[in-house]
This record gives sequence, C-alpha cells and structure tokens, in this order.
Amino acid sequence: MNLLRPIYFIILVLVNVSTFQQVHATENKLFVLSSKENLPIEGAIIYDRKNLKAYQSNYQGLVILESPNEDLQIKAKYHHPILLKRSKQTSQSITLKYDENLLVDDQALVHKEENIQWGAADKYRENNDLLTYDLSITVNPEKKFIAGNNKIRFKMLKNDDVIRVDLYQNLAIDKILYQGKALNFKRELNAVYISFPTALENNSIHEIDFHYSGHPIAKGRFGCFTFNKDDKGIDWINTACQGVGSMVWWPNKDQQSDEVESMIMRVSVPSALKDISNGRLIETHVKSNGYTEYVWQTLNPINNYSVSLNIGNYVHFGEKLGNLTLDYYVLEQDLAKAKKQFKQAKPMMVTYQKYFGEYPFIEDGYKLIQAPYTGMEHQSAVTYGNGFQNGYTRNDNSMGDWTGVGISLKFDFIIIHESGHEWFGNSLTSYDFSDAWIHEGWCTYAEAVYVEDQFGYDDAMKYLNGYKNKVTNKFPIIGPPSVSHWPTSDIYFKGILFINTLRHIINDDDKWWAGVKAFTTTFKKSQLNTADVLNFFNHYFDDDFEKIFDQYLYFNEIPTLILTNKNNQLKYRWKSNVKGFDMPLDVKIRGKVSRIYPTTDWQVMADNSEISVLDHLFYINVESNVL
Ligand SMILES: [Zn+2]
Repeated sequence: MNLLRPIYFIILVLVNVSTFQQVHATENKLFVLSSKENLPIEGAIIYDRKNLKAYQSNYQGLVILESPNEDLQIKAKYHHPILLKRSKQTSQSITLKYDENLLVDDQALVHKEENIQWGAADKYRENNDLLTYDLSITVNPEKKFIAGNNKIRFKMLKNDDVIRVDLYQNLAIDKILYQGKALNFKRELNAVYISFPTALENNSIHEIDFHYSGHPIAKGRFGCFTFNKDDKGIDWINTACQGVGSMVWWPNKDQQSDEVESMIMRVSVPSALKDISNGRLIETHVKSNGYTEYVWQTLNPINNYSVSLNIGNYVHFGEKLGNLTLDYYVLEQDLAKAKKQFKQAKPMMVTYQKYFGEYPFIEDGYKLIQAPYTGMEHQSAVTYGNGFQNGYTRNDNSMGDWTGVGISLKFDFIIIHESGHEWFGNSLTSYDFSDAWIHEGWCTYAEAVYVEDQFGYDDAMKYLNGYKNKVTNKFPIIGPPSVSHWPTSDIYFKGILFINTLRHIINDDDKWWAGVKAFTTTFKKSQLNTADVLNFFNHYFDDDFEKIFDQYLYFNEIPTLILTNKNNQLKYRWKSNVKGFDMPLDVKIRGKVSRIYPTTDWQVMADNSEISVLDHLFYINVESNVL
C-alpha cells in the first residue's frame, strides 16, 4: 500500500517567492501567503537555516528576518497541517531557535537551547544509521558514581568525517576509541561531535568505543537516574529518562528517529545487589572486586529512553502465556503483594494480543519490575511503582479513581497503561516528540480497550468519557517539530476521546478492530508520524479523515454542533476551525439512533422532536437552544 502519497493539500502554504526575493534584500521582510487565495498565513514557522533561527509569521503573514538570508525553509505551522514527510534518514527538519519577541503570546513555543539541540535533526546525526550498542557500566552506590563505555556500531549513509553522539555535559568523556586509537571530539552543550582522521565512506560500517564517567544528575519527574534506598535501607537504583534524555547517564544518539537493531547491556553492581534490565539475562560474572556483572541482551530495535537499569534487592517469579515469558522482579519484602497484584498481567496480555496483535518483543520477553516511581514503559522491562493496588497512585500516595467514574478502581492503572506502550511507543515509535500522541493517545486508548474486553462496552465508554474533565483544549495535540518539547497532556486525554470518535464515525466494530490490528501490525517495530497514521486510516477504511484529523490534532478547539429551532424548524451545522469540516454524527430522535451528516452549512432536520446528541461517542461541543 502506498503510504507516501501527499495528503495535506488544503492549506498548502507557500512563500510567495517573487515577493520574497524582491523584498528581503532591502527590508528583511517575508510574507507567508496561502497558495490558493493569497491570504496571509498566521503562525507559519520559518527557519533560517544558516543562522539557526526560527520565526513565526504574524496575522499579516509577515516575518521580519534579523538578517537577509536565502537559505530559508517553511517547515510547519503550529496551528495548521503543513505536515512533513520525514523518511527515516532524510528528515527535512533542522535545528531551530524561536525568536521570543515574535512569540510573546505563545510561550509554549519558546524553548531552551539544550532542548532545541536535543530535538534537532542534525546532519551529523543523520549521516549514519545505528546498528548496535554494547554498553558496559559499573554503578557505585556508595560514591553515587558511574563509569563505563558504549561500543556504538553504525553504518554511514554518506561520506563524512564527523558524527554526533549525545552525553550530558556534566559527565566526563574519558576517551573515544576507533580502531584502537583515540579520536578528537568537540562538546557543545550535550552534543559530542566526533571527528575521524579521514572521511568514512557511504555504506561502510564502523564501531567507536565511547568511555565516560561521572556523577549522573537526578532530573525530571522520575529523577532519570536515582540512587535511593528501599524501605529496608538497601540500595535501590533506577533510571527513567523519558522527556529528560537517556544521555543523562549513557552516551548514545539520543533521538527517536533512529534505533539500534539490538543491544547488549553489561551492568556491574555490588554483588549483594542485582540488576534487571531490558531483554534477557544471558550471563552473570562474579568479579574479584566484590561486584557482579549482569549481561542483558535485547534482540529487537529499542528506543533510547526505554533502556533501563533497575538495581536492588530483587526477587523473581514468573509464568508463561504460550511461548511468551512473563517475568516479575520485585523487592523481597513485597513478593506476596506482587504475586497477587501481578495476576492482572496475563489476562491483560491476552486482551492486548487479541486487539493489537502478537506481543512485539517475544524474543526479549515481557517483564514487570518494581521501581520507586509510578512507572515507565521500558521495552520488555516495564517498571512498576503503583503500590500493588488498583487505581492510580495520587501525589499523596493514596489510591485514586483515575477517571473518577468508578471504573479505574477495577484494575491497576500502571500495569495496564505502561504495558500498552509495548505496542504504542515501543513497537510503534514516533519519529519526533511533536507526534507523541501516537504513543500516549493510543496507549490511553489501550486502557479503554482493556476495560471493554474485561468489563464490557458500557464500562469502556464510561471510563473514557471520564477523561473529558482532564482535557484542557488550550494547545493543539501536535507540538512544534524538531525540538524536544513534550506536548500538553491532551495527547493522552483528548487523544483517547479522538480515537473513540474515529471508531464511532466508522460505525462498524468488526471493521474498526480489524483496522486497529492492521495499524499496529503494519507499523510493527517501526517509526511513524501523524501523516502515516492518517494515510493508513484513509487507505484502510477507504475514507477521507483528513479534516477530522486536522480539527482534533492541529487545533486546540474541538468541533461544535450548533442546533437551533426557529419557527418550528430544527437546523444544524458544524462550527469548526477547519474549512469545510464535515463529520457524521449519531443522534437519538424519539429514542431511535439516527446518523446525521452535518457540514459547516445549515441543514434542516426532517424530524425535530425529542432529539439528543450522542456526545459520549463523539467528542464534540453542542450549542443548542433546543436540547
Ligand atoms: Zn504513557
């Protein structure tokens, strides 16, 4: 199936090139106009590639450049769907820097330099394709110190003599070896530019050995790299780096658009402790210095933020589901509680495999590992810290009814949510943070799929509509591209409601579930962006969801159905940001479900009595003087 056909044609933004070329040389002005009607486009992002600056057009479509420069590109427009088609190795994105003066009203678009650098599609990242990591690390709990090396194998995608690897600037680089000799390197913030003595040839395969050491900093919601003690006073050391960067504790190409094909982790810890990491334990070595090395191997592609250490006084129990191993690692003192609570994992796995296809990482197995924070979707090594109780831990450590409608107390939110990420996030990974809804919206939808399979459709609808209170609708779901900026939590809450809306537009459950499974299978263990999702749904369901995707993902507002009754005539239409928005909808007329096809033009309802809108199936606003 052709997934590459261009899809966004409504608001094709174009720099009016002749105007631009005349104007910019003298006045540094640039107008962004729509190609169709020559109307000014507000909010387009213009990249000055030479000076690494980005500008946003104002309501007149005007951008005033700091200096004349012809090396410009329109990459995206925050509120409109100028979507980029990024292939794996030829991302069209570039490093950007927003001009704060132009963005005073939209602080969400102003980013720190290190986040701009982190998210950038740097040519020295894109000139190579990762093959394998072989990471060795020794963790010293007493000194809170780590030291190690990562053997990075990669294939060149062009002739070049520099590549970029990321490592937090507080960690020391001890040496970087290539064919036994030390390489020169240059550090800029958290990026390390490594120079080779001669250009590496396109298609050739190489390995560098990157040695580093230092005291990793605790950063972010879960601390990223934390030295804790468990409640018995035994060392408990964990990593969880999503949104912070795995480069906080190990050197790697820290972006989602490239993954190694497989990975080995050799983790040395004091022999009284154990390390539980991704994949399978293939060897242990007791060393003479009082440390033991645990060698873990992952046979599947893995994203950097999933790579995880869990060091502590762990005990193990496990079970099997067909040929899939389910292994559980918890602190010794919590074994009995875990044995009871983790009973939910197997039926959950049955449900997820039924709806999303076979568990994607059978070779590496599935694990649940106790951690001191709520949880994280580390691939084949999901971490869990929800207190062995149903619901979701509140900030004050009491258990909460997460969506507030009495359903979430029927299951353990962290087991169900974080394991859903094995499909959405780990198997299907977004190229860029701006498309994070593909991870979180779909994974939140997996919760509702679990509820429906275990407790029925009505509970699922109740559960997911409970998310309505959490949606802010302040910013679009799709974030700014090529910068490490996590979009708002609407990617979860509005994400699930949007996907539920799609299901009810399609209005054929057999088709819907077959389509969902085809979606996860088509993109299994690969990277994708929002355009890929839309293309897939358009092709699979032989329909055009473009305007619906646009309205829900690229605008903060949701569509509003307007109903008015004048002179005993009931009229209805959509109010939307997307021009010509049309989306079918179910209403009840005198108790009978009926499908209507509102557009942005007024239509008259033939039968106008006792009408109600099924807005628990379609996430919309209703403005009415009738209901
Ligand atoms: Zn999640």
